[in-house]
Amino acid sequence: MSPIAPNKVKDAINLLHGKIGKHSREDLALVSQHICSSSIFWQKFTAANLEETKSRHRQHKHLQSLILPIQAIMYNPRTMLSFQESLVENLANSSVFDYLDEAADEETKLMFLNDLKNALESANGSTRQAMGKQMPRARLLHTLVISNSQWIPVIQIQNMVMDPVRCNRRGCEKSGNSQCARCASRYCSADYQKQDWAEHKLVCKLLPGLKSKVQSA
Ligand SMILES: [Zn+2]
Ligand SMILES: [Zn+2]
Repeated sequence: MSPIAPNKVKDAINLLHGKIGKHSREDLALVSQHICSSSIFWQKFTAANLEETKSRHRQHKHLQSLILPIQAIMYNPRTMLSFQESLVENLANSSVFDYLDEAADEETKLMFLNDLKNALESANGSTRQAMGKQMPRARLLHTLVISNSQWIPVIQIQNMVMDPVRCNRRGCEKSGNSQCARCASRYCSADYQKQDWAEHKLVCKLLPGLKSKVQSA
């Protein structure tokens, strides 16, 4: 299957929104499959939308509309069956979690996370590893915990994709030899621990309690 050309990304999004012409279910399924297999699409898509979240000053309705194509793909049952692995791999290699942090409302985050968790359960080791580079997501977890909603999928995803001895700083692949005194999250160095504090402080107090709740769930 040929990848979607960069200049077709916008057309594909419009098609998913139902904005260009009348298309059959088969057309939509085919486009979804192409999109799932296109790493270019996901990199362009998340990069463009992250840029947009900065320029529009986080207007909620607008940000919300950006995530609709992702939902359309995640909820296309045919897509999920045979293209799940390549979709998850492409999501892992794009900045999709940064985008989720910024753009999605609570309900959308939860639906997306539950789908992602299911997809990851059947994903291979390298896909999980790629997803692991995007975790942990302190901001995401914090929003969901504070709003008393279902934060369990975030912890479950972290447990599936995170190497327990890896540095907790997002993007760092070194092993973590020192630990946070309060929550035991690991870091490769005191420097990285300091750099991570702005995000980590959102969940540091919450983590020990959350992890034991997940284990007993
Ligand atoms: Zn590190
Ligand atoms: Zn901590």
